[in-house]
Amino acid sequence: MVKKIAVLGSTGSIGRQTLEVIEEHPDQFSAEILTAGSNAPLLIEQAQKFRPNTVVIADKSKYKEVAEVLQPLDIKVFAGEESITQSVECSDCDMVLTALVGFAGLKPTLAAIRSGKAIALANKETLVVAGELITQEAIQHRCPILPVDSEHSAIFQCLAGELQNPVEKLLLTGSGGPFRGMNREQLQNVTWQQALKHPTWSMGRKITIDSASLMNKGLEVIEAKWLFNVDPENIEVVIHPQSIIHSLVQFSDGAIKAQMGLPSMKLPICYALSYPQRLVSPDPRFEFKNFHQLTFEQPDLNNFRNLALAKEALKQGGNMPCILNAANEIAVYAFLEGKITFLQMSDVVEKCMTSLPYIKEITFDNIFETDAETRARCIEMI
Ligand code: NAD
Ligand code: MG
Repeated sequence: MVKKIAVLGSTGSIGRQTLEVIEEHPDQFSAEILTAGSNAPLLIEQAQKFRPNTVVIADKSKYKEVAEVLQPLDIKVFAGEESITQSVECSDCDMVLTALVGFAGLKPTLAAIRSGKAIALANKETLVVAGELITQEAIQHRCPILPVDSEHSAIFQCLAGELQNPVEKLLLTGSGGPFRGMNREQLQNVTWQQALKHPTWSMGRKITIDSASLMNKGLEVIEAKWLFNVDPENIEVVIHPQSIIHSLVQFSDGAIKAQMGLPSMKLPICYALSYPQRLVSPDPRFEFKNFHQLTFEQPDLNNFRNLALAKEALKQGGNMPCILNAANEIAVYAFLEGKITFLQMSDVVEKCMTSLPYIKEITFDNIFETDAETRARCIEMI
């Protein structure tokens, strides 16, 4: 049986690598839906190659351009963000891979869960802003959420066969980004161009900035809490600059299991698509002879305050992680436009966390309100 995959965000970094995995395993997977924000030329090219049932372009002004080329190929073409959600609901695909970036991933992920599709989750922001509600929905609809994020995939792989065994601690690794080891003074002058040069991973712009500021690791701590139901105090971040150990699990007898390999997102993507099977990969292998040492450090929470802010947001719970996420999204794009400095990103997030109304019991309605309100406040502030 060929698994039909909806690839949401197919023109992005994760989306493109997902299509590589699908292309390498035509006997296992096919692309059923492809969606993009605004990159019409690439979406068209992907659709011509993979012949999905449906494509959606979120940017409505690009509809004509896409439809003219694809409709003769018998591919349904829709436009607008709401069409992403609708095509997921109406589709008979087997799995939805969520590789949209940011809060925009929440609605389609929720729609996919409610229509009973398995989720391969790359869009971590969904679990950051509404982890409690999303996991409840997933349980209610008996819908598996398979992690694509490399750290969470590593933990998931370490947990295979350990269902009965209590977990003592999750150890999330992170490279530390391009500014690892810098003090406040040095961080004052870093530019967005430098921030976009990640030492070990090639990714979309938003997550690359998040990696430089350690917000990505903060979002991942929150993501791990919801995926694995582990208390926040038992989730530890370890800086590991070589990005070879992708994360670890410590069990109650003190044993630690790690998942290792060269940094590549194709492995976690493929594992999420093919779980519980492992498929043959043509990619290069890790060789011990090429790595003389693997090193580990503590994260610097004083100079990289975003990680501390994310942990605080998780501790407070309610709508606080949603405030953190919305403020961070606005701050990251403002930094990329040169409107604020690297260190001001944390200031903006912190100001939002202390000034927006805190709500303890979250609902989808108040999460959408919190997101909109935080963005508006943030834009004003900047
Ligand atoms: P990206 O920016 O490269 O791609 C994002 C995709 O989403 C593109 O196809 C874009 O067209 C689409 N998109 C953006 N805004 C949209 C909107 N409003 N409506 C509809 N579509 C929209 O991002 P990425 O690096 O591929 O990351 C995607 C997600 O995966 C993020 O949540 C990120 O945190 C997570 N992730 C990425 C990596 C990685 O290696 N890139 C690793 C782990 C997790
Ligand atoms: Mg990650």
